[in-house]
Amino acid sequence: MELLFLEPIFKERIWGGSRLRTDFGFDIPSDTTGECWAISAHKNGATAIKNGKFSGMSLKDLWLNHGDLFGQSSGVNYRDFPLMVKILDAKADLSVQVHPDDAYAKKYENDLGKAECWYILNATNDAKIVYGHIAKNIEEFKNLALTNQWGKLLTSVKVHTGDFFDVPTGTVHAVGAGALILEVQQSSDTTYRLYDYGRTDDKGNPRELHLDKSFSVIKAPHKASTNDVQVVSLGKSSTLTLLTSNKYFKVQKLFVQGHLCFINNAKYLLVCAIDGDAVINDYKVKKGDSFIVPNKTKTLDIVGDISLIITNEAD
Ligand code: ZN
Repeated sequence: MELLFLEPIFKERIWGGSRLRTDFGFDIPSDTTGECWAISAHKNGATAIKNGKFSGMSLKDLWLNHGDLFGQSSGVNYRDFPLMVKILDAKADLSVQVHPDDAYAKKYENDLGKAECWYILNATNDAKIVYGHIAKNIEEFKNLALTNQWGKLLTSVKVHTGDFFDVPTGTVHAVGAGALILEVQQSSDTTYRLYDYGRTDDKGNPRELHLDKSFSVIKAPHKASTNDVQVVSLGKSSTLTLLTSNKYFKVQKLFVQGHLCFINNAKYLLVCAIDGDAVINDYKVKKGDSFIVPNKTKTLDIVGDISLIITNEAD
């Protein structure tokens, strides 16, 4: 019934804040900390296991050399770990950006594509995101972008705690100030920056933009995710909500109040506790903890009052 807990990695960002400390109790490096990489095996930052016999080993090495834990019968994985889970704290607006798909990222970046999705953990009253655009085709998109008509081109959406957004590759998007977000994504660090609101750094220099690559990967017209999540009742007062299921990942929210025995049918699970606390298979778990449920652990015996975001690879 072993669970593998992970040591998070923090990334300072010019748009970051201090809510990873104040909301989650993490020991962050500064008051401009934008990202917590909760579960990652990416070359730019791999989280390490912090309990049991694999303590200290990076998730990258665990994945490559102990494939049996992830349902790989040969015991060895010949591909990279496919997923990543982050928590983002946007004190300021992030730049408007877009990510490539697998084919484009492989050809030009030696990385995976980056399909992502967002669960809004907390949002201030005026928090917004950029999500899509009004252009009917890429020519119209370019015309409006190159004539600086960003206000007309981009679509802003007000966000609330508990909202969920699918952000497939090619989607123009930006996290806005005041949003605290749990992000599930492909294991990729490739971002094309399209627009940075004309901002400059403390030396007066603008951040680099990647317009040509952006125009190559943007999808026009924009397709919004439907946001019609399915909620299933489990037992007396627990619920399981399917947030998204696409060709890369399935993301569910499990809310448990009291006692629940959750059956795991996937090869392995990536779990983040986003609220409350509980005892799970004899481990104490609290908000901010992240762990992997390895292949042989087929049940989670949960006692407490907790919300979990559970991710698995698409079958
Ligand atoms: Zn993104």
